[in-house]
Amino acid sequence: MNRLWPWLQIWLVIVLMRDMAVAQPSAPLVVLFTGNNTAQISDCGCGPDPAGGLLRLATAVDSLRRQYPDAVFIDSGDWLSSYANSEQDRQALAIVKRLQYDALAVGEYEWPGFKPYLRSGYRKIGLPLVLTNAHIDSVIRNQIVLRRGRWGVRVVAFLEPELARRKSAEASNHAFADIRARLRRLVRSAVDRREMLIAIFHQFGEVSHEILNLLPETSLIIRGHWHRRFAPERDGLQRVAGRWVANPGDNGEYLGMAIFDLEKKRWSANFIRLNRRIPEDAELAKKYMLDTQQ
Ligand SMILES: [Zn+2]
Repeated sequence: MNRLWPWLQIWLVIVLMRDMAVAQPSAPLVVLFTGNNTAQISDCGCGPDPAGGLLRLATAVDSLRRQYPDAVFIDSGDWLSSYANSEQDRQALAIVKRLQYDALAVGEYEWPGFKPYLRSGYRKIGLPLVLTNAHIDSVIRNQIVLRRGRWGVRVVAFLEPELARRKSAEASNHAFADIRARLRRLVRSAVDRREMLIAIFHQFGEVSHEILNLLPETSLIIRGHWHRRFAPERDGLQRVAGRWVANPGDNGEYLGMAIFDLEKKRWSANFIRLNRRIPEDAELAKKYMLDTQQ
């Protein structure tokens, strides 16, 4: 034992240092998020301050990534067109690929049974698609685990079955897992209890308190399917059942940026309106000139 003791001490110090390093990430976690863009390449040209479009989003995201290279970038679903419009979706898929999202939730607009051309598109392009409460295709993962600096981040995404069924008869044949049971298992099975959970809920209405209560208090919940009026100061980041619920708004008009303060254990959020003060990405604009106003 005497000979082993110094080695045991060294081993203990190594283990403790490793655990401290994980417990005290050096930089805040930054999450960039979008939603409900509906494959708009440019803005809709509507209203007094037109905003949105993937070409403008590219400029804003590239700029923020230079500032925050470890930022996680997520979309909460309905990033393709609301109709079966293969040319518009083809262009949107190519631009979304170029934007290098870390996770793309599957809304009902991305459900492969809704648009037959999506399956080959997803396979060919290769995107980080995530859907946790149904298995519909091997290219779609049920969770995405990321490491950013010292942060471990787990992204899960839930789609309300009724929304999928509205767009696709095929969806009726799919078994959707019970969201509560799936969440309980996910939280229980988390290998590293200090990792950050980001849960996307693509659904009608509010996320129930019962479901929110299953999530760790520091989780970031991101809403999808918000096709209505949006005011970032009112709807952008809310406290519901003691959890942080972020909302990217409608029409891809905003790029959300959520920042987790480790000391205060709280999220804050800023919203960048993607209006015409932000130039569209010139390289992408040369390639993708489709008029996608809807
Ligand atoms: Zn939707």
